[in-house]
Amino acid sequence: MGVAVMWPRRNRHRENAERNARLDMVRNQLERRGIMDERVLQAMREVPRHVFAPAKRRHEAYGDHPIPIGEMQTISQPYMVAVMIEHLRLRGGERVLEIGTGSGYQAAVLSRLAAEVYTVECFPSLAADARLVLQRLGCPSVRVMDADGCQGLADQAPYNGIIVAAAAAFIPPPLRAQLADGGRLVMPVGGPEGQRLVIVTRQAGTFIEEKAVTCRFVPLLGADVQ
Ligand code: SAH
Repeated sequence: MGVAVMWPRRNRHRENAERNARLDMVRNQLERRGIMDERVLQAMREVPRHVFAPAKRRHEAYGDHPIPIGEMQTISQPYMVAVMIEHLRLRGGERVLEIGTGSGYQAAVLSRLAAEVYTVECFPSLAADARLVLQRLGCPSVRVMDADGCQGLADQAPYNGIIVAAAAAFIPPPLRAQLADGGRLVMPVGGPEGQRLVIVTRQAGTFIEEKAVTCRFVPLLGADVQ
């Protein structure tokens, strides 16, 4: 069963409170911790995170933590969403692949920063709920696909940015192969006890790897990646 998608009637008082919570989130959780890309900050000021949270968790949508969304999955912590997206260095014209749609929140933020967003989810119930919320919010540049993200999405490759919202012991080879020249891939790499964010840049056929912050993500599901 998917998470019920609630679309409450307009309530100005509540909308103001949610907007204030969102502005506080950006100031206290993102700017204070060093997120500097103004486009990323602005996108996260604008995208209503609470509509992606299950109705009973809507009040915690702007907290400094991940939020459970069913199927033992979570919406990533706001700071991790910002760090990962900042590493992609998007300027607006890119085609981006996200592995792990979850609630669709990160895809909605990406859709404000790139031209096209393809996002892949392995649980059909989560994909269906995300599609509905993204449609109601008005994110026509996002396509939600039911598939195993370990294979990437070869049909639409190559991608200028690839963002993986779940962790594995190594980067699935198809994802590297689907990166455009000059493109960047961001993924948490490591075991269940903790990971490092790895950033891969493809340049003239070679892959340059850097490590960034430590993090803790749900596992990327798939037979041979853990
Ligand atoms: N980006 C999401 C958070 C994702 S949590 C958001 O903003 O809400 C990680 C997601 O990856 C989960 O929804 C999980 O179901 C999905 N996932 C895990 N392994 C996967 C795989 N092999 N292929 C596609 N999706 C996968």
